[in-house]
Amino acid sequence: MENNSTENNTVLNISNVNVTFGGLHALSEINLQIEEGKTHAIIGPNGAGKSTLLNVCIGKLVPDTGTVTLDGEIMTGKLPHEINHAGMVRVFQTPEIFPEMSILRNMMIPAFAKRDGMFKFNAFTSMADEKEIEAEAIHVLQDFGLVDQMHHHAGSMSRGDKRRLELGMGLIQHPRILLLDEPTAGMARHDTNRTIELLQSIKERGTTKVIIEHDMHVVFSLADRISVLAQGRIIAAGTPDEIRANPKVQEAYLGGAEI
Ligand code: ADP
Ligand code: MG
Repeated sequence: MENNSTENNTVLNISNVNVTFGGLHALSEINLQIEEGKTHAIIGPNGAGKSTLLNVCIGKLVPDTGTVTLDGEIMTGKLPHEINHAGMVRVFQTPEIFPEMSILRNMMIPAFAKRDGMFKFNAFTSMADEKEIEAEAIHVLQDFGLVDQMHHHAGSMSRGDKRRLELGMGLIQHPRILLLDEPTAGMARHDTNRTIELLQSIKERGTTKVIIEHDMHVVFSLADRISVLAQGRIIAAGTPDEIRANPKVQEAYLGGAEI
């Protein structure tokens, strides 16, 4: 569903955000709008401020100035679990997986947390609730190709399967926006390609996403829009084609040869 109004379909609005660490300007005057259903990639060299920006979004870090809103509601100043509850879900944070628990149980945990606001399913969740959540967890595991191994310990999974589980654990929370921190870091090409397919299938569901990623193949396969951060500033923003063609970007980050 395309339209030209950015007013109504902005899910995440980052406005005039500044973050300093001592004398270091980690983020300067960041303005960024993420539209509903879009996949927005944030790229930039090491130290550019990408993780700092995600930390501001999820409430792990309070900016010196500026605000983050989700569907028009100010998140800045709220606690991380409140922001998570509002629908801002970051995946690939640590610790995320409980290795001694089954894959199925791992998948159920964030659904309980979402429903109850905290991890209290052992003591307080009724059997009916538990059955319902289990059914949904199995459904997501099916979608993610993990259902055959769902009774195995999560600790026994391959790195690629773990990433898939983590992604599923994000999705089962029915996020308003999914923030992905380097979803293919450390993966072999085969697993990277499977993850791209998975992220594309999530895209078809219409989930809005912000993705931080070093792998240009991943970025250009998935992103609708790209913002380039360098030294705490957004130096370019546009479609993948615009970014590819932007000499400032090539100079600051892409080095010409990578794409
Ligand atoms: P990126 O994720 O793009 O590699 P970061 O957001 O991690 O960049 O870091 C941006 C800058 O802020 C870097 O110079 C980094 O050293 C600095 N930085 C990040 N976190 C802190 C912190 N907690 N204290 C001091 N400096 C920090
Ligand atoms: Mg980082």
